[in-house]
Amino acid sequence: MSDVLCVQWTIIPANAPEPWLNCNRCRSTMPFRTSGKIRVNANGKRVDAWLIYKCTSCDNTWNRPILERRHVSTIEPHLLASLQASDPELSRRLAFEEWRRKLKVEHFDGVTVRKKVVSGNARPAARVEIACVVPETTGLRVDRLVASELRLSRSRIQSMQNAGLLAAWPGDLSRPLRDGLRVRIELHGVHDGDEIALAATGRET
Ligand SMILES: [Zn+2]
Repeated sequence: MSDVLCVQWTIIPANAPEPWLNCNRCRSTMPFRTSGKIRVNANGKRVDAWLIYKCTSCDNTWNRPILERRHVSTIEPHLLASLQASDPELSRRLAFEEWRRKLKVEHFDGVTVRKKVVSGNARPAARVEIACVVPETTGLRVDRLVASELRLSRSRIQSMQNAGLLAAWPGDLSRPLRDGLRVRIELHGVHDGDEIALAATGRET
């Protein structure tokens, strides 16, 4: 029996990023939040589409361009139908897309983590390997994710890294979480290794 526990964590952000834009009603730069609604305007054979954002203070709207003067024949029919229906899956995906314009964009820390055991057992585990699937952008740092999900303090995470017991790559613990992140934790001789391994699986007992 292998004493390596392999788990997959899928991280789903609670909130889409919010751009800070000049609100002419508030007369100030304000965060705008996606409404989830898509507006489509067909002018002859040309189609424009926008994702509608609202000022978080006054509800003033701002349209984020999705399609600009696109010829209807170049738009995949299923996409056009989804745009016209404000399909929730599509509007969520659009709200998480990278911004082409240089804007101040706020990313949030709140996430839901779905955990799945790929192989191995929590008891006894000499090592835990965590593979992260992050389909959408989040502002959450790697050390905050690992600390909260394994119920450890961030200073403990740091000291485990310093002792060579914990490694995260690519990047490092202080970076925002990105798809493909891997974390390896050596548990051999760690006094609360069983609890750490169990927390990594998402199971209570
Ligand atoms: Zn406003």
